[in-house]
Amino acid sequence: MKVYNTLTKQKEEFIPLTEGKVRMYVCGPTVYNLFHIGNARTFIVFDTVRRYFEYRGYEVNFVQNFTDIDDKMIKRAQDENTSVKELGDRYIEEYYKDADGLQIERATVNPRATEFINEIISFVKDLIDKGYAYEVDGDVYFSTKRFQGYGKLSGQNIEDLQAGARIDVDDRKKDPMDFAIWKNQKPGEPAWDCPWGKGRPGWHIECSCMAYKLLGETIDIHAGGSDLVFPHHENEIAQSEARSGKPFAKYWLHSAFVNVNNQKMSKSLNNFFTVRDILEKYDVDVVRFFMLSAHYRTQLNFSLDLLDSAKASMERLYNAVANLENLLDEVSRESMDEKEKQYLEILNSYRDKYIEKMDDDFNTADAISVIFDLVREINTSVNINSSKELIEYALKLIKELGCPLGILQKSTKGDLEKEIEELIESRQKARKEKNWALADKIRDDLKARNIILEDTPQGVRWKRIQ
Ligand code: AMP
Ligand code: ZN
Repeated sequence: MKVYNTLTKQKEEFIPLTEGKVRMYVCGPTVYNLFHIGNARTFIVFDTVRRYFEYRGYEVNFVQNFTDIDDKMIKRAQDENTSVKELGDRYIEEYYKDADGLQIERATVNPRATEFINEIISFVKDLIDKGYAYEVDGDVYFSTKRFQGYGKLSGQNIEDLQAGARIDVDDRKKDPMDFAIWKNQKPGEPAWDCPWGKGRPGWHIECSCMAYKLLGETIDIHAGGSDLVFPHHENEIAQSEARSGKPFAKYWLHSAFVNVNNQKMSKSLNNFFTVRDILEKYDVDVVRFFMLSAHYRTQLNFSLDLLDSAKASMERLYNAVANLENLLDEVSRESMDEKEKQYLEILNSYRDKYIEKMDDDFNTADAISVIFDLVREINTSVNINSSKELIEYALKLIKELGCPLGILQKSTKGDLEKEIEELIESRQKARKEKNWALADKIRDDLKARNIILEDTPQGVRWKRIQ
């Protein structure tokens, strides 16, 4: 497999640190509001990356944090007259509702920064002891110039960064590029006891610390949205590598941003969509299809029209699934004949193409095209004369290729339909056993629900009456 590594600016062969295992850390949400479709893209992309590693046989240890203490959390809690803890609890619960709604697999661990305060304090202490950080009036800063490789992720040297960055004027810093890893308590802010008085962690240190504690000093993959390359991930590298003397992450993956109608999404432009809004109107398959229809490193333009066309595409794919599921009820031959067995080679070639695309830095856009090609193939070749075994194989293959993308996992037979089919089967069984009373009862019960049964040459059919 090849992955694009932001650190080396090239596609590289993926070689895990431990054979068969992937240790992966993704920067998660700050839990002060419902998450938006931009965040959703990042979460869906890395959920897909994780699912694909699993599909390829890796065991993935997947950590995604919750930032539950920072300026935004504190301000929102004050505005709402509640505590930072209560705000975090509430929006973590809401996060799970939306993430589950998007069929994002639960992480191995979702650590909260506030649950790692002691570990963060000792991390900060280590950095001070090693001479990489210094304390001023209860704040602790990281000395960027002390860390040789500063700038290596964003590909800039420290002078360029200094010239380009908007830097807070702060007399207490020894250098304008130094950044806070621990912040002294301001009035009204939540704080924890520490060797420098009372305070709270900076944002960057929490990820360095939790990745280290949960996954180890060197991890396979660190990921997030492209806005995090600088300064967040640059600073994470500096802190982690200064402390351990080892590389922090082997591969750095970044997903590009979502724009809305070709403009940056923002509350002030009134073009802000939460996942909650979108899932009310669109099925999760449609949302995931849309998010994965572009390569994760290209910007994605969002509009309701584009979602509608994703919906039409998903319908085409599900029509093929429905067609196969209906055929299963109608065909009579059970096993594949020789010709069908040979035909499997053609079907399997689509799996090979799909793997080739996904192995190439998770090219979901091309992988989706392969699924369309497969469906076209199946539509022309699998029909009423096919065996049940072949139809089931085709259905399973569509599901298999949909699974890493988190689409095409549903049956087109609704729960009600399934229940009716099962009742019809029980009735047929009762009739065979000459249990007329049970057979009649099933028919009458269905009739009471406005469903009538008809005997046809193809078997029993049912229809709804008004
Ligand atoms: P935040 O809650 O803002 O810290 O963001 C959580 C995750 O979503 C991070 O990995 C961000 O990089 C990512 N993210 C934020 N905004 C967008 C956007 N408009 N498009 C794509 N990803 C985003
Ligand atoms: Zn982070």
